[in-house]
Amino acid sequence: MTERLERLRARLAARELPALLVSTPTNRRYLSGFTGSAGFLLITAELALLLTDFRYVEQATAEAPAFHVRQLQRGLAKELAPLARELGLQRLAFEAANVTYQQWEQWQAAASEVGLELVPVIDLVEPLRRVKDAEELASIERAVQIADQAVQAVCEWLRPGVSERAVAWELERQMREAGAEGMAFALIVGSGPRGALPHAQPTEKPIAAGEPVVLDVGCVVDGYHSDLTRTICLGEPDPAYLEIYDIVLRAQHEAEACIRPGMTGGEADRIARDLIAAAGYGDQFGHSLGHGVGLEIHEGPTLRRESEDILQPGMVFSVEPGIYLPGRFGVRLEDLVVLEADGVRVLSQAPKAPVVRRSG
Ligand code: ZN
Ligand code: ZN
Repeated sequence: MTERLERLRARLAARELPALLVSTPTNRRYLSGFTGSAGFLLITAELALLLTDFRYVEQATAEAPAFHVRQLQRGLAKELAPLARELGLQRLAFEAANVTYQQWEQWQAAASEVGLELVPVIDLVEPLRRVKDAEELASIERAVQIADQAVQAVCEWLRPGVSERAVAWELERQMREAGAEGMAFALIVGSGPRGALPHAQPTEKPIAAGEPVVLDVGCVVDGYHSDLTRTICLGEPDPAYLEIYDIVLRAQHEAEACIRPGMTGGEADRIARDLIAAAGYGDQFGHSLGHGVGLEIHEGPTLRRESEDILQPGMVFSVEPGIYLPGRFGVRLEDLVVLEADGVRVLSQAPKAPVVRRSG
């Protein structure tokens, strides 16, 4: 944590910002280790304060040894002016993407009392989070493994006639029992035409034999997420499904084989997009190729057409091409990968087979 704090301080110094107020929960956790749901970090070149309320003082003290924990008695808005006076703060950066208008008004009123200038900043902490250290990677790998095993178990368990919701619950149950602390997002189960909706919420619709089913699942371990999509079919599939599946699989393989450190997110996206376009389905791949995953399910880098993000070793992101045929079906395959010096290492190990059971 002290190393993360030093890297942040270097970024503050480079922007000539004397102090930063951190209000984003994931950034707070990343920098301090504090896992509670409320509190702020106030970081200067010399100081590292964790401000939280009565409920969390003991926990914060135990979890964030690099920080001096201070109890907020009346809430930050009321204590900001005396705090600024005490610390001699004249300028304070705050995370513009994670402050409500109401909070900002209250802080601004307090700041003007003591001549404190509030400076909105974005993406000050987030870029630090993109490259994962060994401990973070271990948590992600555990979350990936739990999702892999759940998908595999559910593929063996699944029979025609089971509803999408029952499948989602079985996936969740499997992951919870394997030690997940939560789901990474509301699990997606989309069968038949519903699979053409990239974010289909599971319904009571029963899954029919021969119908493609998109399963997009993930869980949380130590605050870190996993993200996995497989498309399966029970029984005899439509030949068109097999053709589309093959294109998506080749696009994914091509991207995983060719992505290298130093590429931009846009260049990585193009590898899969060009292949799908050449096969005639460019317009049916309407989302980005991938996104970073960590303390948040969607974080940097972004692998989409116009992304200038430079891919670096240690980054963990998804590779998830898809083709969606409205009214018919969708196919998406999503792996989580970690970028290494010579290319990506695929973390997801759930089998990729277009058909899981021919009779049944
Ligand atoms: Zn996903
Ligand atoms: Zn994803």
